Amino acid sequence: MRFFNSGNLRLRLTLWYGSAFSVLLLLHIGVATYVHYRQLITQAFRAANEETETVEGLLYQAPDGQISLNEDYFNHPQVRFRLDRLFEILSPDGKVLYKNNKLNGADLGGAPLPNEGITSHNERFLKLSDGRNVMVVTHFHYLNGRPLLLRLAYDEAPLFVNVERFLGVLALLAPVTIIVAMWVAFTVTGKALLPLSSMVRRAEKITAERLSERLPVHDPSDDLGHAARVFNGLLQRLEDSFAQLKRFTSDASHELRTPLASIRSIGEVSLQTVHSSEEYRDVIASMLEEVRRLTHLVDSLLVISRADSGQIAMQLSSFSCMDLIQEVIGVVGILAEDRRQTIQVTGSAEVELAGDRGILRQAILNLVDNAIKYSPTDSTVLIEVQRKSALTAEISITDQGPGIPMQEQTLIFDRFYRIDDGRSRERGGTGLGLSIAKWAVEVHLGSIGVRQSDAGGSCFYVRLPLGK
Ligand code: ADP
Repeated sequence: MRFFNSGNLRLRLTLWYGSAFSVLLLLHIGVATYVHYRQLITQAFRAANEETETVEGLLYQAPDGQISLNEDYFNHPQVRFRLDRLFEILSPDGKVLYKNNKLNGADLGGAPLPNEGITSHNERFLKLSDGRNVMVVTHFHYLNGRPLLLRLAYDEAPLFVNVERFLGVLALLAPVTIIVAMWVAFTVTGKALLPLSSMVRRAEKITAERLSERLPVHDPSDDLGHAARVFNGLLQRLEDSFAQLKRFTSDASHELRTPLASIRSIGEVSLQTVHSSEEYRDVIASMLEEVRRLTHLVDSLLVISRADSGQIAMQLSSFSCMDLIQEVIGVVGILAEDRRQTIQVTGSAEVELAGDRGILRQAILNLVDNAIKYSPTDSTVLIEVQRKSALTAEISITDQGPGIPMQEQTLIFDRFYRIDDGRSRERGGTGLGLSIAKWAVEVHLGSIGVRQSDAGGSCFYVRLPLGK
């Protein structure tokens, strides 16, 4: 059984096939031998039946009442099957009137059975007192009006020899047949598994650095071709995620390097000369500003990596959309005040949202923060809340900033994508705010987008499922 479990699929298939074939062949030999035996018996009985009629023609009664027949004929073996003929004549009351020499004095069935041989030729098997197995045919016959019971039997031994020879030939051929069948199975399996070997060889070459390799597809319509296509699809997805991961890692390290380099250069420059405590205060303040940016970036990276690995457990509830917006304004309001901007909120106070309040708050906060960051001073940011349909609410944030060019309206939701790199950094942007907002909205089965506002600024909109 260990052998059957070995890694060699070709050998295993051949052995399984060989075993199944051998069992079937043995079954076949068994059935064929039995059928052959049954046929011989049927033919022998038929011959015996015919011969009882011949016997009837050869019977004669001597004047003293003695029954006889042509001994020579019935003391020779049956012509067709070379079976020894045994012969006995009884009176209806069971008295033996005649026996041929081949019986060697043995009884051929003893006293007559009820109705034996009357309606038809009785056929049965017997074992004689000398151990011989015989097949007996009985027939009732009237000789000159005298009722006689004729019993003609054949010794079965030659039949068994015949069957044994038949079985012997089949058994001799069986190993050859099995070996040939297994050889054919081994060859065919080898051919059928050829594409698998080439797939395996190619798969062995695929490493993280060579994810662009694909498995060969020999016949796209067969099972192996299908498996290769599925595997290639998987490789494609792996390659895409690897590329995305690489891009993300290099973008993230790049983003982290900038504030770190800035902190270092501020520190190095300030160490070169002796400063007043007032100047050191300024240096520390600048450093803290960079640290604040760094913290913001690291927080954003953490949210993204948790979101990617599905580690964020949602706490679902139904809450007022307006309350959420007021809370956001409470956080970013100071920023707007600094820039002398006005935040206007309109819309229905009844709109309820369903979802994780914390995650949605982050999304709206990023959008309002951007609107303030990228709009000029003395401008207005308009936040509108409305029911879009029976099941959806829409929150739109319109600013009077530079707007988003048409060709970049989808790109800005990609990680680390910035329209104006320098300006975004200057304003403390990480390039991750919109991608976090997109994830937050989509995880609620909502949608996010941007369009040009009538005044030329940008109008970000978020559609979310309504609460109760
Ligand atoms: P950042 O942290 O740099 O703001 P975001 O992902 O939030 O990153 O935004 C991506 C880019 O989209 C920003 O760098 C900016 O160029 C542009 N952007 C976002 N919001 C606005 C807006 N309201 N007006 C103009 N440009 C915007």
